[in-house]
Amino acid sequence: MVTPHEQNPLSGLDSVQETLARLGVENNADWMAVVLFARNLVSAMDLFTEDQKAQLQAIVFEQMAKRPLDRRRFMRIVNSIQNFVLENQKMTDLRSQLATERQGFNALYHEMSKVVVEVQESMAARESNIQRLGADTEKGIVEADSPAEVLRRLRGMISDMVSQARDEARSWQERARQLEHTANFDPLLSELYSRRALDAQLTAALERCRRNNIPLSLMFLDVDNFKIINDTHGHQVGDGVLRVLAAILSAHAVQFSGYAARFGGEELVVLCEGLDEASALLRAEGIRQDVARCPFVPHLTSPEAVPPLQVTVSIGVAHLGARQSASDLVLAADQAMYAAKAQGRNRVVRYSSLATSRTA
Ligand code: GH3
Ligand code: MG
Ligand code: MG
Repeated sequence: MVTPHEQNPLSGLDSVQETLARLGVENNADWMAVVLFARNLVSAMDLFTEDQKAQLQAIVFEQMAKRPLDRRRFMRIVNSIQNFVLENQKMTDLRSQLATERQGFNALYHEMSKVVVEVQESMAARESNIQRLGADTEKGIVEADSPAEVLRRLRGMISDMVSQARDEARSWQERARQLEHTANFDPLLSELYSRRALDAQLTAALERCRRNNIPLSLMFLDVDNFKIINDTHGHQVGDGVLRVLAAILSAHAVQFSGYAARFGGEELVVLCEGLDEASALLRAEGIRQDVARCPFVPHLTSPEAVPPLQVTVSIGVAHLGARQSASDLVLAADQAMYAAKAQGRNRVVRYSSLATSRTA
């Protein structure tokens, strides 16, 4: 239910004043900001769940109940608000998503800069080739004994230029291929398509499958207890685990022409064109078993031997239903993945609209 406070965060100022007066800090703009934030603004923030909002409000009011309300207490309360906001899971996920995006853009920018330099160099080289051809032609005509000799020299010069242009075209083709790769593949998990490429592929596959009456399924994978791996062995080992996982996933996906992509963070998906639900479930089970069997060896710089890690994934599988959009399909597979987590992790669960619901 929407309370009058939520409709207008600045309403109810009188009662805020009253609270401040009771606490002995009336007409103090800093304390008013804190009370307004805790009472009204936090309710309007989508970032938090209702429980988290209640928790944040409790922290602030508990702290305020302790006197005196001096500068030190004010700073302490502001710090707790900041820590709460920064440690929020959605914030962490957003930060990691942003870091991935930034990595992708940096890689693309780096390649584009190289391409610009190469274009400039190649234009300069072509210019000087043309000038040289003009000079060589004149020289050739002056020095040659006969028209046949002039022709022979000209042919030689032209065939040199043609072969240079051919080499250039080949290297441009290679550059275009690299650029396409950077734009379409994940910067960390290079075997997997990027989220951007996945979005385009999803729309196209959905249209194709509808038009040709072909089944379409989607697998949604999430690493189980990945935070523990990061917390125990560090982020670099976590990244290494993701690379091994990406290799296993793409090795499986090629077997059934699946489109394996990184959805975000440690969430990966495989778009399975032509696979009905039963086959997609079987394939997903194959992936789950291979991941669970694979010893993940952390690449640590420390000389101590670290036993291989056991990593498992939870997989949700959804099949495209009538009138479903691409985002409905993703949501269904995501919900099935959450159901797999709820049932104990390290398992494959089929989406069933009645039996699953996502809990944040
Ligand atoms: P659950 O079984 O419920 O999925 O538990 P979990 O610990 O895996 O929880 P959750 O999926 O919420 O957390 C995923 C963590 O993965 C949080 C985030 O910091 C981390 N992460 C996301 N992307 C990366 C990445 O690229 N590299 C590393 N090392 N960690 C990442
Ligand atoms: Mg996750
Ligand atoms: Mg996880």
